Amino acid sequence: MGEGTKSAFSVRFWGVRGSIAAPGPATARYGGNTSSLEVRCSGRLLLFDAGTGLRDLGIKLLGEAPVDADLYFTHTHFDHVCGLPFFKPFFQPENRFRLWAGHLGGGMNLQRVLREFMVAPLFPVPPEVFKANMEYRDFKPGETLPSAPGITVKTRTLNHPDGAVGYRIEHGGKSLCYLTDTEHVPGAPDKNVLALMDGADVVIYDSMYTDEEYSKSYVGWGHSTWQEGVRLAKMARVKKLVLFHHDPERDDAKLDAIAKQAEAALPGTVVAREGLTVTL
Ligand SMILES: [Zn+2]
Ligand SMILES: [Zn+2]
Repeated sequence: MGEGTKSAFSVRFWGVRGSIAAPGPATARYGGNTSSLEVRCSGRLLLFDAGTGLRDLGIKLLGEAPVDADLYFTHTHFDHVCGLPFFKPFFQPENRFRLWAGHLGGGMNLQRVLREFMVAPLFPVPPEVFKANMEYRDFKPGETLPSAPGITVKTRTLNHPDGAVGYRIEHGGKSLCYLTDTEHVPGAPDKNVLALMDGADVVIYDSMYTDEEYSKSYVGWGHSTWQEGVRLAKMARVKKLVLFHHDPERDDAKLDAIAKQAEAALPGTVVAREGLTVTL
C-alpha cells in the first residue's frame, strides 16, 4: 500500500550496533546504541529486541500511553536485552506488553531468563518491578505467531550460538524481514534465511563483518557479512536491503565506505543508522 492509505507500514531504527554499545564522536552519525526496532503496522506497534536503543524509544512512547504492544526477541544475548529495565513504558500500569522468544530450549523460558538477568548482584531489582501488564510467551521457530488481524509474523531459526530467531512481518501486501545474529556458511546459502527473505520488500540483515574479516578472524562467532546480505537479497529478489548490527569498531567513515560499496553491489541498499525510518 502506498501513502495515504490506511495500511501504513514502517520500521524505525533506535539501535543499530552489534555486541556492545559504542557511543562517541566517531559513531555519532550512525549511532552507538544496540538493537532496537519500532515497527508500525497501521494502528499496531511491534517492537523488536531490547538493546540500549530501547531506552530512547521508551521516552517517546510515554506520550502514547496506554500502549498495547508486542516485543519480539531475536534472542537474549546481552546486547539485545540490556535496554529492557530502562524502558519507561514498563512502569506505566495502564500499558500492556506481550514479550516473545523462540530461541530457548532445554526447559528454559523467557520469563526465567529475564529473572536471571535482572538479579542481584548483577541488577538491583527483578522484572516484578514492572507495573505494566506483562505476558511472557515462548514459541518454537517455524511457528507463525498470532498477531492482530491483518498482520502475520513468521519465524525461523537462525544460525547463532545459543540460538536466535529471524522474523518476517507481513501487512497490507508488504513484507519486512528482521534477520540479525545469524552466521552464514560461505557458498551454502541459508535455507531458513532465504525462506523468510523470499520476495520481501525490506530486509534488515546482520552485517557485522566484511567477507575478508569474516574468513580471516570470525568463523564461528555467529555473525554474517554485508556481502552475504547482498548475495542472499539478490537470490531472494528482495526489493531493499538494510545493513544492520554494525561492529562496535566500525566508525562512521568506515560505514560510509561500506554504504558506497553496497550501493554499487546492489542499488538501493542502505546502512542502518539511528533515527532512520523505512516506509514499506
Ligand atoms: Zn547481537
Ligand atoms: Zn547474539
